[in-house]
Order: sequence, then C-alpha cells, then structure tokens
Amino acid sequence: MTRPFLDSFGRAVTYLRVSVTDRCDMRCLYCMAEEMTFLPKPEILSYEELERICGAFIHSGVRRLRVTGGEPLVRRDVMSFFTAMGEWLRRPGDEPRLDELTLTTNGSRLGEFAAPLHAAGVRRVNVSMDSLDPARFAAITRRGNLRKTLDGVRAAREAGLKLRINAVAMAGLNDDEFDDMVAWCGQMGADLCLIETMPMGETGDDRVNRYIPLDRVRADLARRWTLEPLTYRTGGPARYVRVAETGQKIGFITPMSHNFCESCNRVRLSCTGQLYSCLGHEGASDLRGPLRAGMDDAGLLRLVHSAIGRKPKGHDFMLGRADDDPARISRHMSVTGG
Ligand code: SAM
Ligand code: SF4
Repeated sequence: MTRPFLDSFGRAVTYLRVSVTDRCDMRCLYCMAEEMTFLPKPEILSYEELERICGAFIHSGVRRLRVTGGEPLVRRDVMSFFTAMGEWLRRPGDEPRLDELTLTTNGSRLGEFAAPLHAAGVRRVNVSMDSLDPARFAAITRRGNLRKTLDGVRAAREAGLKLRINAVAMAGLNDDEFDDMVAWCGQMGADLCLIETMPMGETGDDRVNRYIPLDRVRADLARRWTLEPLTYRTGGPARYVRVAETGQKIGFITPMSHNFCESCNRVRLSCTGQLYSCLGHEGASDLRGPLRAGMDDAGLLRLVHSAIGRKPKGHDFMLGRADDDPARISRHMSVTGG
C-alpha cells in the first residue's frame, strides 16, 4: 500500500464519498431548484475515470466508499460501476481493499436495483425519505412518489440490505412526524437519521425559517421513547442513540447547531472530479484536468495527498458565525454528493 492519507490535524482519511451524477428524478426543496440546469455529459467523469480515481484512494487506505449524487441510480449503467467497486471487497485482507461499499438514494429505483446491488457486495443503503405522508412527500420532493420509494425500501429489505432512513428536519413540513417515523423505522428494522437543513445552493426555499435545532427534536422524542446514548461512531457527523422500545438507532446530524469535525475521516469526490476535503468549504482540487491530461497514478496520488493536507479543521455552517449569509456554500448538495 502507498502512503496513507493523513491531514494536517492527524486525521486519517479512510472514507470516500463519490458523486456519480448531478442529475436526479426529484427536486427536494432543500437540495435543488425547481428548474435545474444539469452539467453537460463531457464534464462528468466516465466510469473508467471514476474507477481510476477510486482505485488510487483505495491504494492509500480508503476502506469505505459511499456512492451518491444527485441520484446515483438514475445514471445509465450504474451497476457496472458498483460491480467494479464491489471487486475491491473481495481482495485479500493484506492487500488494498474496501471493507464497505454503500450508497445513498432517494429509493425511487431501488425496486429494480436492490437485488443487483446486493449481488455486487452492497450490504447497507441509506434511503432519503422526509415524510410518510404521500402528499407531503410529493410537496417536499416536488416530483417524487412515496409509493415508489416505499416499494424500494421493501425491495431492499427483501434483498437483505440493511437500511437507514435519512430525513431532513424542516419546520412546518415534517416536524410533527418524527414519532411516527421512529415507530415505522422500528417496524421496518431500519435506523433513522435526522439531519439539520444546511444552506447549500439556491433552491427557491427559505431554509433559514425551515431550520430546527435537533436538540429540540431529541428532547421531544425523549418524552415518548427511551433514548439510550451510544458511543457508536462512524467518523461522520452523526451522534447515535438506541431506542429501547424498538431496538433501532437514531442518528442526529447537526451541522448547524454543533460542529463535530474533529473526528472527520471523509472526503468527497464530485461527479466532475473535484475533490472536496470538507462539505462546508468552497475550496476543491481538480483531479479531472490532470487525469485527462494523462497524469499517471503516482502524480494523481501526490495531488490527492496535497489536497487532503489542506483539509480544513472544520466547517463554518453554524448560524451566526463568520458572516450571516444563509446560502454561504454556493454549490448544490447534488454536485458534491451528500
Ligand atoms: N439523491 C440521493 C438521496 O436523496 O438520498 C443522494 C444524494 S442527496 C444530495 C444525499 C443526502 O443529502 C440526502 O439524504 C438529502 O436529504 C441530503 N441533503 C441534500 N441537501 C441538503 C441540505 N441542504 N441540508 C441537509 N441535507 C441535505
Ligand atoms: Fe435528488 Fe437527493 Fe437532492 Fe432530493 S436530496 S433532489 S433526491 S439529489
């Protein structure tokens, strides 16, 4: 194995999120504008290019890879990428390998893809679902169909995939549903992860007024459920509790009210080959240009090492910090990959 990735604060980078497309069949209020102009195809990394970059990361110690977007399952022939990445799971323990291959999806096409994903080596999937009410779900996603996502969730269970449901907490949109979601996730054997709305990209919705601090949600849930704090960590921003009544976990991702960057172990590759060492900063390193100009693997690794060396200590989303511009990060979440 080549030199492992360490940032200047000594954090080892072992987790890569890869956005394979900026496109999506939904237009969630907090993520995209109603009318989006998507990137021209030549700007998007080909599967071959993605595989080369991911391979370089795996050779330097990345052990977990999450595929995201946009909606990863709308990209044509996406299973060829999962199959190629799945081969890294089967490498012997003493060679560069992946321990886990996962994805985040809106679930609309999971009905079709759950079984092939399992065959490729995926064992866990995060499905974004902000409401259990069909009309609300349609309003939040602007063009999603709850039935399809629920069919996807069912297919995932049947295929043997572990599930985590992601829900962005939004005042006036789904803040009266968290109890029902905890109960529903309990029945489905799924974990639940609640997320504070982050100000990324213009979407035409007022996210500042939608924002609810999750401390408040957690205190409210604790009136009805027994929440046992867990030390379980993924290196990510979520803090977990176990619901004694259901046995499932609830994660709280609180980028706005708490900054948990000190243990961050992840970097993100956008679908255009920009490497973001922090979701909450504008700075990125271009890998596509050098790759297309013929850079060899050693050169690529040097670039990645120097980008990771510049990984900032933490993001600056917190309201009231630095300046007060609510849409401080101008790019949409769908470009970087959530
Ligand atoms: N399309 C897939 C999905 O929705 O799961 C994957 C990409 S999506 C960008 C990944 C995650 O980012 C989703 O769980 C979504 O809820 C979350 N997300 C998007 N925009 C967000 C924002 N402004 N604040 C907080 N979470 C956001
Ligand atoms: Fe699409 Fe996911 Fe963004 Fe919703 S959150 S618009 S499903 S990329």
